[in-house]
Amino acid sequence: MTDRYASFVQSAAGRALVKRLGLPDPPRLRRHHPGDPLLAGPALLGAATGGRLAEQIAEVLTTAGVELADPAATPQRYGALLFDATGITDSTELRQLYDFFHPQARAVLPSGRVIVLGTPPQECATPREATAQRALEGLVRSIGKEFGRGTTAQLVYVTRAGSAAADGLDLSAGTHRSLESTIRFLLSGRSAYVSGQVIRVGGGAASTPADWDRPLDGQVVLVTGAARGIGAALAKVLARDGAKVVALDIPAAGDALAAVANDIGGTAVQLDLTAPDAPTRLAEHLASRHGRVDVVVHNAGITRDKTLGRMDADRWDQVIDVNLSSQERINDMLLERELIPAGGRIISVSSIAGIAGNRGQTNYATSKAGVIGLVDSLAPALRERGISVNAVAPGFIETRLTARIPLVVREAGRRMNSLAQGGLPVDVAETIGWLAWPASGAVSGNVVRVCGQSLLGA
Ligand code: NAD
Repeated sequence: MTDRYASFVQSAAGRALVKRLGLPDPPRLRRHHPGDPLLAGPALLGAATGGRLAEQIAEVLTTAGVELADPAATPQRYGALLFDATGITDSTELRQLYDFFHPQARAVLPSGRVIVLGTPPQECATPREATAQRALEGLVRSIGKEFGRGTTAQLVYVTRAGSAAADGLDLSAGTHRSLESTIRFLLSGRSAYVSGQVIRVGGGAASTPADWDRPLDGQVVLVTGAARGIGAALAKVLARDGAKVVALDIPAAGDALAAVANDIGGTAVQLDLTAPDAPTRLAEHLASRHGRVDVVVHNAGITRDKTLGRMDADRWDQVIDVNLSSQERINDMLLERELIPAGGRIISVSSIAGIAGNRGQTNYATSKAGVIGLVDSLAPALRERGISVNAVAPGFIETRLTARIPLVVREAGRRMNSLAQGGLPVDVAETIGWLAWPASGAVSGNVVRVCGQSLLGA
């Protein structure tokens, strides 16, 4: 699926027209290619007085080869602005955010990155501190809408070491290690279509890969619904990052599935996830071939759209079964047989329809909201076993699914986000990849939208 309008506005004639008529102006997004530097320019790092993270952030940036800008050397253009706001304990101190960002509002390079780091409000010592930390969301989401030219903005809440210990989590390897995968992901072109998100980084074991270009080296990863669309992109991205991919899809998609598996040197499993014996067959396959599965990606999904009054019970049942119940049955079986080891990952694909609801999609939105419930309930329960549980919620992604939407509705869906364009399957795949990395053990219980900061459900 191509976005002809986005190609047109890159041309000279297109640029002139966009300017004259004030039309949406989708920027060309910076996407990841192995070997790329994380940023197109230096990073400017600031901190509120008394912040606890600036040193760790500087350490991550330096190890990642990012040049740290000297704030005194002006004027400059920056690849990223990062601000440690953990020192802010009262609303009157929010002024420090203005003082840092205001002079740099026009100094960010195209596809730049803004990251604010804070303390989760529920961990704050006083109501005033919690209030000020919660206020950070408003700033970040507005910067995502304001800076333009492909710049994204995120808020990362980082647990305090004391709270992590109280939760039985191990931060002995240092906050720097827990944070590293998230900062690298957010700065890189891998997060091109992720903006306006609030990400929580807790405790949990996080290891450092030998090679950050192959962060999944040796990991056994199951991808359901891998024959096409987002699943096929996922299989490709995860294999590129070093994973041994087990690609699963229905028998009717066998040829396409085999092509995907062959292309990436993975293996193919033909299985209908809703079959009564699917969990047992899958568990036996994984046990006999690999002895384990490090990462389970529940990507398979279907739509059977009708308004509720016109929807027959079959449409309801099929959607709930494929998109939600089958995930629960498979998780239960793999966990019961202890096939997901410590350090394992469960990642589900939700949707912004599960957050915002959608006309004609009561069944689909119910199933996708249920996926969020699954993350909320399983993540704390599996923390002790060292297994993380997260979901991604894609917005408008250019696939066969969205190509079928009538033209006018499709155009509206595409443009109603801060980046004025649809995302690509690879954008969802890269986000799932980050959550899957062994280095991302401290990221659990999150639902990360891959929607270009869509207005839906915002
Ligand atoms: P797609 O229809 O192209 O691919 C889905 C795959 O799942 C297909 O290959 C299909 O055969 C497989 N599948 C369906 N039922 C199955 C079953 N019972 N057992 C095994 N495999 C089965 O869809 P897509 O656009 O690539 O979407 C992938 C996921 O992303 C879905 O969960 C979807 O709901 C979600 N999503 C997509 C978008 C978008 O814009 N495309 C937006 C939000 C969420």
